[in-house]
Amino acid sequence: MDKKVRVRFAPSPTGGLHLGGVRTVLYNYLFARAHGGDFVLRIEDTDQTRFVPGAEQYIMDCLRWCGLEPDESPEKGGPHAPYRQSERKHLYYEYAQKLLDAGHAYYAFDTTEDLERMRKEMKTDEHSMPQYDRTTRMKMRNSLSLDAAEVVKLLGDGVPYVIRIKVPENEIIKLTDMIRGEVSFDSSLVDDKVLLKADGMPTYHLAVVVDDYLMQITHAFRGEEWLPSAPIHVLLWKYLGWIEHMPLWAHLPLILKPDGNGKLSKRDGDRLGFPVFAMNWTDPKTGETTGGFKEMGFLPQAFVNMLAMLGWNPGTEQELFSLDELVDAFSIERVHKGGAKFDFEKAKWFNHQYIQHTDNTALAALVLPYMDAVNIAPEKLERAVGLVKDRCHLLTDFNTQAGFFFTAPATLDEASMKWDDNKKQFFTALATALQSLHEWNEATIEASFNEQVAAAGIKKGEVMLPFRIILVGGKFGPGVFAIADVIGKEDTISRIAKMI
Ligand code: GLU
Repeated sequence: MDKKVRVRFAPSPTGGLHLGGVRTVLYNYLFARAHGGDFVLRIEDTDQTRFVPGAEQYIMDCLRWCGLEPDESPEKGGPHAPYRQSERKHLYYEYAQKLLDAGHAYYAFDTTEDLERMRKEMKTDEHSMPQYDRTTRMKMRNSLSLDAAEVVKLLGDGVPYVIRIKVPENEIIKLTDMIRGEVSFDSSLVDDKVLLKADGMPTYHLAVVVDDYLMQITHAFRGEEWLPSAPIHVLLWKYLGWIEHMPLWAHLPLILKPDGNGKLSKRDGDRLGFPVFAMNWTDPKTGETTGGFKEMGFLPQAFVNMLAMLGWNPGTEQELFSLDELVDAFSIERVHKGGAKFDFEKAKWFNHQYIQHTDNTALAALVLPYMDAVNIAPEKLERAVGLVKDRCHLLTDFNTQAGFFFTAPATLDEASMKWDDNKKQFFTALATALQSLHEWNEATIEASFNEQVAAAGIKKGEVMLPFRIILVGGKFGPGVFAIADVIGKEDTISRIAKMI
C-alpha cells in the first residue's frame, strides 16, 4: 500500500511572510488535499540568533487569513508534536551521535578566531572564499586532525565544540526533483556544514532531515533557494540509513521582481509601491511596519488565486479558480522550472474580479473596516458598494469611491461647476421639489429633476454635472440619480442647501 501523503511548510519565525512563502504553503496545501494527505506546519526556530518574537503567531494568522490551515501545527498539536523545533532539542543529539559513530561526522573545536584566520590565510586567487571542507578540514582543530587522546581531553574539559558532517570527496550526489527531474551535485564543492551547534541546538540541516523523517513527510515543497542545501540533506538521509524514506523534493521557482532580474524582495515592494508580505508585519525591534496584501485591500481568495498562477498554469485559458477548483486542477507537472515575474497590476486584476463576483452583502461586510466614515448603516453600505464595485480594484478603493455616500464632501470641484445665478435658481427650485417627493427612488428623483429643467428652460446637461459635484465633490461616481437615491432625501437636500 502506498504511504499516506504528508507535506510540511517549515518556516523560520524571523519576520514577515513573503508571498513566495505563501505560495509554498499553497502548493503544499493543494497537493495534500488532492491526495487526501496531511499538511503539517513546523516551526524551525533552532537559530536563536534569528528568532523574532511574534513571528510564529503572525505566520499562523497569515495562513488563517488565506484559508490555508494546517492539519498539524504547534497550535493544533497532532501525532508528531511538538511542532516547534526548539521544543524537540533533546531529539537531535542521538542522530548526531549516530553520524559520529559511523564516521560521517566529527567534532570541531575551532573558535570564531580560528575560523576567521582560516578564511583569511587560505584565501587564494582561485579560492576567494575558503570553506570548512575537504581541502581545509585537516588544517583545523577537529577530531579528524587532532589525535584521539587530545580529543578525549578536550571533550572531558568541556571545551565547546560543534559537530560537522564529513562530506565525501569526488562523489556525485543525486536527487530527483518533481519539477526539475534529476539534479546532481559534485560533493567536492560542498562544505562540511555544522549539524549540531555549541549550545546543543541542531542546525537547520540536521533538524530538517530528522524531523522530515520522524514526521513521515513524503513530499517536500520549498523555494529554489534551498536547492544548494539539498546535497547535505541527501547525504544525511543516506548516512542515517533512511534513504528509502527520503521525501520527494519539489524546489519551487523563485518569484522575480517585475523589473530586472532576481528574487522579489521587500525592498522592491517599497521601491515600486506594493506589498510583498501577506499581512502587515511590525518589526518588534525597530517598530517599523511593512505593508501586507490584506491591509492593502486584497481578498484572501484573490490573493491565493493570483499566487497559484505565479509559477503554475492549468494548461487552459482559465485564470479564476476557487480553492476547491485549484485542488482539482493543480498538478506538480505544470509547475514551471523558471522564475515567475510578479505583476502587481495583474494581482489587482484578480482582486477586481473577486470584488465583482462577491455579493453586495458580503462585500459590504468586507469593506466596512476600510471606511473612514463612522456609524455606517449596513443596508446603505450594501447599496453603495453595489453601485461602485465595478470601479474598485482594492477594498481600500471603496473609501475613495463610496465615502461620499456617508459623509458630505469636504471640498467641491467648484471650477468644474461653473456656478452662476441661473444654476442657483435651478437648485433652489429643485430642493423644494425634492422636498415634496413622497417616494424617494432613482426614477422619482430623475422625473422631478427633469420637471425642474423644463420649468427653468435650462439645458439638462448644464445642471447634471453641478448636481453630481454637489453630492460627490468631484467628477466621478456612478449615475447621479442612483447616488441621490442612496444618499437619501434629507442628506441630498441638505447638500444642495449649502450651495443656495
Ligand atoms: N526553515 C526553512 C525556511 O525557513 C525551511 C526550508 C525547507 O523547507 O526545507 O524556509
